[in-house]
Amino acid sequence: MRQPLVAGNWKMNGSRSAVGELLEGIKAGLAGVKTAEVAVCPPYVYIPEASTRLAGTAVALGGQNVSTHAGGAYTGEIAASMLVDFGCKYAIVGHSERRTLYGEDDTVVAEKFEVARKAGLVPIFCVGETLEEREGGTTEAVIARQLDAVLDRFGAAALAAGVIAYEPVWAIGTGRTASPQQAQEVHAFIRGRVAAKDRAVAEAIRILYGGSMKPDNAAELMAQPDIDGGLIGGASLKASDFLAICTAANR
Ligand code: PEP
Repeated sequence: MRQPLVAGNWKMNGSRSAVGELLEGIKAGLAGVKTAEVAVCPPYVYIPEASTRLAGTAVALGGQNVSTHAGGAYTGEIAASMLVDFGCKYAIVGHSERRTLYGEDDTVVAEKFEVARKAGLVPIFCVGETLEEREGGTTEAVIARQLDAVLDRFGAAALAAGVIAYEPVWAIGTGRTASPQQAQEVHAFIRGRVAAKDRAVAEAIRILYGGSMKPDNAAELMAQPDIDGGLIGGASLKASDFLAICTAANR
């Protein structure tokens, strides 16, 4: 049985006071979250604040990105060991915003996956097609290529240390959500692709859906057999919405 994971990706949003309010709001509603593991990925500078405020709760922390380097002269970068140092469990790698706005290709994403894994973090490995790719009928080919970048280079045993997030690019921050059927189809494809390498890893790995998941569509998405939680952007910035998504995973 895979425990659902609901992870909030705050992106570059917040202020000290807004972050404090959000964290206190999340803490106040955690008693209603029965099944899902909950994680938040704040901007780096707010990770210490989040770590302090979340102490004693089961909410895990994650970075939104990680450097491919272990340390040294890489201005502006954050190493995996630094995330570990501040109590992070997760690191998002390959988010479509990193891929499109910062030119991270499959090779870089795979390196980030491996660096994070080796440091003891659980990489949340994002894959997903653009609207053009979906309309052009290449969704599966794109997802396969993105997955294989990690699978072929580091193997299924390495992938097993991570979580996969299927995030159709056309659904991120657009208010346009994949239907439960559309999402399930791709999740099943992902699991099948992993199963072709290692059936046990495929059965165990969590595959999150991300892309305009909200309180009103979360339950239906998370009821799909191959959807094991969500990676939440916009709705993770409002405690009540985020908690409603977390509780939608209650079983
Ligand atoms: C995301 O960016 O990971 C995401 C899923 O965003 P949103 O929920 O806002 O679509």
